[in-house]
Amino acid sequence: MKSILLSASLLLVAIPPAALAQDSKDKPEDTEQWSPAVPVVASGGSETASPPSDATVLFGGKSLDQWVSVKDGSAARWTVADGMMTVLKGAGNIQTRQSFDSYQLHLEYRIPAGITGQGQARGNSGLFLASTGPGDTGYEMQILDSYHNDTYVNGQAGAIYKQVPPLVNPVRKPGEWQSIDVVWTKPVFAADGSLKSPAYLTAFLNGVLVQNHAELRGETTYVGKPSYKPYDRAPIKLQAHGDQSKPISFRNIWVRELPEIAR
Ligand code: MG
Repeated sequence: MKSILLSASLLLVAIPPAALAQDSKDKPEDTEQWSPAVPVVASGGSETASPPSDATVLFGGKSLDQWVSVKDGSAARWTVADGMMTVLKGAGNIQTRQSFDSYQLHLEYRIPAGITGQGQARGNSGLFLASTGPGDTGYEMQILDSYHNDTYVNGQAGAIYKQVPPLVNPVRKPGEWQSIDVVWTKPVFAADGSLKSPAYLTAFLNGVLVQNHAELRGETTYVGKPSYKPYDRAPIKLQAHGDQSKPISFRNIWVRELPEIAR
């Protein structure tokens, strides 16, 4: 009897909190942080960084060869024209063919001039640093029109969604190209699936630091608390958000995989 009780309690201990179902009473508002407000700063001039010689070019302006549809793994169907790719909302999220460990990544994006909507329904997309499943699963750095557009601060441009607000708001107005540069340090899991070392994000928006080695508490979720699920290598995903605002465009995307650090 004792040993049954013992193994039963061991079993309970062995189930990570991540595996437990979210409380059905959780609401999206529960994880919205609205204050303090994020200071606005003006970024410097516009920049287009040429890829370093050791980078993998994920989008050079002509082809979506490096990208597939998250839904079914078929060829990505976003629109490519004039050196940029533009979200095709019905086609859903896209992700890289390749999977990555930790990396440095550069991308440029443009919220269309004349964007409409407000809050989260205004130029919403997202850079999923590691896409661990379909839909919106993974680790999202928010892309949003945050130019005179209030929303919860942990959901504005440059936020680690519902986890860490950006340090400042250096966004440009709709119609202008903007840049994101990140250093993604992936989470490390032990052989039994438990978390050995969390994920970290350092990010620059328009050349201004918005995340400084920020620790993630797990995958970013719309509802409920973040939690980690073990994975090893993962693709990078771009979000086709379901809101009705005009779709945003991307160009000049490259990545450099980084050597693993002992952790
Ligand atoms: Mg988003």
